[in-house]
This record gives sequence, C-alpha cells and structure tokens, in this order.
Amino acid sequence: MSYGDPSRYITRLYVEEQCRDLPYAREIIKRSNLPLTVIEERQSPVIDGVYPENLTRGKHHLLLCRNRGRFFKPCPGTREYRCCDYQVLNIGMNCPMDCVYCILQAYLNNPWLSFFVNIDDLFRELDEALTAEPARFFRIGTGEFTDSLALDRLTGLSRHLVHFISRRKNAVLELKTKSAVIDNLAGLEHGGRTVVAWSLNSPAIMAAEEIRTASLDERLAAAARCAGWGYRLAFHFDPIIRHDGWREGYRETIRRLFNAVAGEDIAWISLGALRFLPALKATATGRFPASRFFYAEFVDGLDHKSRYFRGQRLEMYKFIADELSRYLSDKTCLYFCMENDAVWREVFGFTPAERGGLPAMLDQAVKP
Ligand code: SF4
Repeated sequence: MSYGDPSRYITRLYVEEQCRDLPYAREIIKRSNLPLTVIEERQSPVIDGVYPENLTRGKHHLLLCRNRGRFFKPCPGTREYRCCDYQVLNIGMNCPMDCVYCILQAYLNNPWLSFFVNIDDLFRELDEALTAEPARFFRIGTGEFTDSLALDRLTGLSRHLVHFISRRKNAVLELKTKSAVIDNLAGLEHGGRTVVAWSLNSPAIMAAEEIRTASLDERLAAAARCAGWGYRLAFHFDPIIRHDGWREGYRETIRRLFNAVAGEDIAWISLGALRFLPALKATATGRFPASRFFYAEFVDGLDHKSRYFRGQRLEMYKFIADELSRYLSDKTCLYFCMENDAVWREVFGFTPAERGGLPAMLDQAVKP
C-alpha cells in the first residue's frame, strides 16, 4: 500500500507575523493552499493534549518561522565512537512521517512541525562557512532534525539547495529521506554535488515501524530516477533491528536495491544497529504499544545509549556486509555509523584510521 506524499498529512499552516511577508513564506503559503493562522513571534500553535501524547495530532500542523539560532553546525557525534565529520544544515524540526524508533520524539518537545523560512540567512551563513575554509571539504546534510524531502512539495527548498551547492567546489550536499518526493530534483544543474540518500530496512520493519513512509519499491524507483538524472546515491541501513526473519528481510532489501540501481551510482552505504536514549523507549512504547523491538536485551554504550550486545551487532553487520559484498562497487564507501574500532576490524578487517580516517574515506567516495 502506498501512503503517497507525506506532506499530505499537513492540514493546517501557521506563519509567524514577522515572516508572513518574506517572499519565500508567501510562496509556500500559496503553494500549500492550506488554512492559515498568523501568530506572533515566539507564540505557538495550540495543539490539544500534552507532549508526547499529542505528537500524532501535532504532526498535522506546520509552522513557518524564523531560525533564530545557527543553521549550520557539526553533527553531534561522540568521542567514543567513529563518527564521519558531517555538517548539519538545520532547515526545520520534526517530520510528517512517524517512525516508531525516531529519536526526534525524545529530542524535541513540541508536537508540531517547524520550517525555517529566513533562507536568505541560511544561504548567507552557508556561504560564509564554505568561503572561510576553502581548503576544507564539507559533507552537508539536512536530514538531522527532519526528513530532507518530506515537505519538499510545499517548500521547494531542494531546488535552492541543489543550485547553491552545484557552484561550490569544497562541498557536497546529502538529501536523506524515507519519502519518494523527488520531482523537484528533476532537470537541475546539480554539478554532481548533491547525493540523494534513502534509509532502508527489511520489508517487515519498513511496513510495521515506519508509518507514512514510502514503500521499498517506491524508494528504489525514486532512487533509480535520481540516478537517471545524474545524481550520486547513498543508502543507510539504520537502524538495523533484530526481528523474526531479519536475515531474509535484509537479504531481500539488498537484492531489490541492486536490481533497481547500479552499484557504481552509489557513493556510500552506512550500517548502524539500533541505538537509543532511555527517554526514547518510554515515549515510543507509550505511543506505539504494539511494537516489540524495544524489549530486546541491550547494553549501555559509552554514549549512554542502549545498543545490542556486541556479539549480536557483529552477527548482523557480518551478515549484511556479506550480502552487500556480492554487489558492491569498489567506488562505494561502506561504513559504520557510530561504531568502535573493534567492530570495524572484526567486520571489515581494518579500522578507519588505517584508511586515512572515516571523513577522508567518505570524501574520497564523492570527490570528482
Ligand atoms: S523519517 Fe526520519 S525524521 Fe521522519 S519520523 Fe522517520 S526517523 Fe523520524
């Protein structure tokens, strides 16, 4: 069954008084054609109930507002695990889709969605950061606090971002999504500087735990279209979840992935087993009582997140890496998101440091 474009879930739009006359805000208001409420700066949409119980309702509401903080920051990796030196471009908060394991449920405390419309500030800040360090290579992603493309039918932001980054020699942009909302990416002069990425999982997890997301076939068909438009692709097997039939499930997803796209078109693939802060378990199991995967046995990691015991992580990683190795191009960087050197060595036979470090490995995979 197809849910379609997740922005259909938005039924009411709000705009901060101070933003309503920005040309970009007006463009979104006109395009969305939704009932509109104008609110004062720092006022909030009124959503019945208390958080997180009202999150399901809140996801119907989208606030267009000003980002008063910084748009561009390093990803908050941790010192204890190998991280990839990613830069986060913060375009908004929350998401119209609803994955049971979504960290945003514990991270945010507002039920509605926010989207920042002061994009002149966004592009100014980005320009300053990239210009200040011309010798540094930036991998930039917008999918940290929201999905990169879920609202793109309404916002059209992807076209602005792809255009901006196409002219920069020292950066690539990764648009990461679980939707199939790619129409705005057609016909753009992207200069090979945008990577379009999908999170993938076993078909059973996608169907049961990723609400209002695109199906596997829809994600892969979208990826194939993007490859046809010349974009590099990326895929993230994250979070890898142990469940009945997990081997068959991940094998099936990998088989269908490489049926749909050519290995050489994939810049990178990441693997990350389920990990979560204790607060997320309470929120997610309260909202989704039928989900069982939070009740497996976990160990506390050095980052205070619960994760599967190392033996179980290794078993899953080795199986998935082995399946991928049947198809993988030598142009693709296969890596772990937030794992330690012992796991790297046991699964891949080397540590990132032995290959120049994970950031350099990823840069290499995407630099022209
Ligand atoms: S698609 Fe991503 S941001 Fe949206 S609910 Fe799922 S995990 Fe969260």
